[in-house]
Amino acid sequence: MTGSAAPLGQPDPAGLAEPVLELREVTKAYPGEPPTQVLHGIDLTVRRGELLAIVGPSGSGKSTLLNLIGTLDRPTEGTVVVTGHDVSTLRDADLSALRAREIGFVFQQFFLLSGLSAIDNVADGLLYTGLALRERRARAEEALERVGLSHRLHHNPEKLSGGERQRVAVARALVGRPAVVLADEPTGNLDSRSSAAIVALLHQLHEEGSTIVVITHDREIAASLPRQIEIRDGHVVSDSAAAVA
Ligand code: ADP
Repeated sequence: MTGSAAPLGQPDPAGLAEPVLELREVTKAYPGEPPTQVLHGIDLTVRRGELLAIVGPSGSGKSTLLNLIGTLDRPTEGTVVVTGHDVSTLRDADLSALRAREIGFVFQQFFLLSGLSAIDNVADGLLYTGLALRERRARAEEALERVGLSHRLHHNPEKLSGGERQRVAVARALVGRPAVVLADEPTGNLDSRSSAAIVALLHQLHEEGSTIVVITHDREIAASLPRQIEIRDGHVVSDSAAAVA
């Protein structure tokens, strides 16, 4: 940890954007005899407006890290702070509420509901808000426009290409205006052309102000993003932002 780091959850004295995710000395061990130590003292800060990759080979601990920063799991030791909230202090219900409000997920497998139109799949991302269906659909339409799918609002996922399905999933992740979007191997199921289009979309959303963390084993995709954090055997072995942080 650098000596100049601001206290967790506090604005940075150097005037950098506020952190949306902060991990300090985070470890994760899965139970067993002996326990499997997967993450070893991870320090990581993601600030509002960043687009970055967490990159590493299979087995390096990326999914484990994703589960921690996505508040789907809790660390064995260390601190995870999401938009100023220390997750260790929250009860499960409060953690779920924080997750619903502040984090949007995009997965390799899309996870769209097959019987529902694109607009209703995206509107589902707002169920937690208690907004009326009409308002949820209006916002879903806006989100689908942002990802370039205003001509596919009423198509079911079965009628969409892989690239279009992933755009719907991105719209669903964005529709609640979360503090951060976590994209887990978002191009893993796509051909190279659709994959390039999704990466271009992530850049566009970043330019519009979204904060996006991409988890990937693909070094080429990682290299195309403004910041890369490399993880290997449960350690951060490089962070391209370290020199300027
Ligand atoms: P990656 O996503 O980079 O492939 P993972 O986080 O899935 O890496 O896995 C890192 C290591 O943790 C692997 O050795 C894996 O076998 C182990 N691991 C993952 N989940 C569990 C679990 N639930 N119980 C025990 N070991 C696990």
